[in-house]
Amino acid sequence: MSKNACPKKNISTANIPAMPPFDSSRKAYIKGILNPDLHVPYREILLNNQKQSLRLYDVTGPYTDSSLMIDMDKGLPSLRRSWKKFSQCSQLSSARQGKVTPEMEFVAIREGLTPEFVRIEISEGRAIIPANFNHPECEPMAIGRNFLVKINANIGNSALSSSVEEELEKMLWSIRWGADTVMDLSTGKNIHQTRERIIRNCPVPIGTVPIYQALEKVGGIVADLSWEVYRDTLIEQCEQGVDYFTIHAGLLKELVPIAKKRKTGIVSRGGSILAKWTQIHNKENFLYTHFEDICELLKKYDVCFSLGDGLRPGSTADANDEAQFGELKVLGELTKTAWKHDVQVMIEGPGHVPLNKIKDNMDLQMHLCHNAPFYTLGPLVLDIGAGRDHITSAIGAAMIGWLGTAMLCYVTPKEHLALPDKNDVKEGIIVHKMAALAADLAKGHPMAIAWNNAMSEARYDFRWEDQYRLSLDPETARNYREKSFPKNVASEHCCTMCGPDFCAMKITQEI
Ligand code: SF4
Repeated sequence: MSKNACPKKNISTANIPAMPPFDSSRKAYIKGILNPDLHVPYREILLNNQKQSLRLYDVTGPYTDSSLMIDMDKGLPSLRRSWKKFSQCSQLSSARQGKVTPEMEFVAIREGLTPEFVRIEISEGRAIIPANFNHPECEPMAIGRNFLVKINANIGNSALSSSVEEELEKMLWSIRWGADTVMDLSTGKNIHQTRERIIRNCPVPIGTVPIYQALEKVGGIVADLSWEVYRDTLIEQCEQGVDYFTIHAGLLKELVPIAKKRKTGIVSRGGSILAKWTQIHNKENFLYTHFEDICELLKKYDVCFSLGDGLRPGSTADANDEAQFGELKVLGELTKTAWKHDVQVMIEGPGHVPLNKIKDNMDLQMHLCHNAPFYTLGPLVLDIGAGRDHITSAIGAAMIGWLGTAMLCYVTPKEHLALPDKNDVKEGIIVHKMAALAADLAKGHPMAIAWNNAMSEARYDFRWEDQYRLSLDPETARNYREKSFPKNVASEHCCTMCGPDFCAMKITQEI
């Protein structure tokens, strides 16, 4: 693979978002071999007075390419439309026919794998590439246990808070700090317009929970929801370019009375809406009864299922109960149905789970859902973290990521309390990025090992600037050190933790 500069594109200059590159980082591209018109981005950090460099996976899209100007009113360049072999055949269908798509090669280059390995993972259902035909701005990525662990950031307004531009800013902020996918969970005003603005400007896959907009269409009255309203919402969102949908089709009517006996009932928004609908109408969940219709629709646009955990536990006391695992079993059956239609699937998971019950979740998900990728919310390992629940979540996320979960949904410090703002988004992303990278390192991923070793070497060499550059949060790292040092103390070979006479690394180097 040859390293190439990306060809300059004709993008107008209005509304350039503020995303300056990180210090000493530059954006570079690797050219495809099977598809020479692919230019796969990565971030290169220059270290040790530019004598060394480190390549990192990069999700920031064109925003960190200093050769490009972006007009957010027009949206990002239609990257995938320019690929010669761009076709209207689903990734799963192509993989099963033995064809390596440009998207598979793009993923292979990003992850340091072979295109054939990616194709096999997709064809076996162990990984997915969420890439709606109508989201050509999206840079392909894979979610699967044999790839880097990914993280998702949720954005979206509520009836009480936020505007279209604020949500767009949160999307940009999410990818700046490393979100691999973004879910737009808007439930307030202007859902369609908010989503349109986000998708056209987003270089990572976008997920949604369509039941939210369907409910808005019927004025928030659960009893008025119907398959027809939901189907029309799906079509609207498929046409816009949503890459994956959370669909709570596994929440069966018979499971609702079991969930009602729990300590915290049903805590999924979508799950509670559908549970209420089944009880009002005394009918089975229409997402379950119309599942094959949904498959046909998603196949047409190559949209992935994120089969929702409507009965995830909302407290550690409810973890791994009959309702949760009863729904998981149904999700496993639906996975096979989706695969029959050549539709890619990932499975959503809990929730609140104590450490000792996490492994059972992973093992059972793999068994019941035939190794389809697992996408978990945390799990939060304690119920008492209000104000710091991004941390209770990241603890469980690191563990379940190490055990094989493919994507971790972030939680912010405001979880359970309020709609997160920009700062909360950054906090949530960084701690879950740490969880994902901890899992990658424990799984022996070469990129994670190289990154960690580069930091350790910079630390032992007292290369402070390089330590900031290698940090997930360079600005905070720099501020902590620089603000802590008295001006008259020589600071090069120690920090204020031990001070100049007790710096263990300095003493070791004098031995
Ligand atoms: S002073 Fe202590 S904490 Fe600071 S660099 Fe030296 S050994 Fe590390």
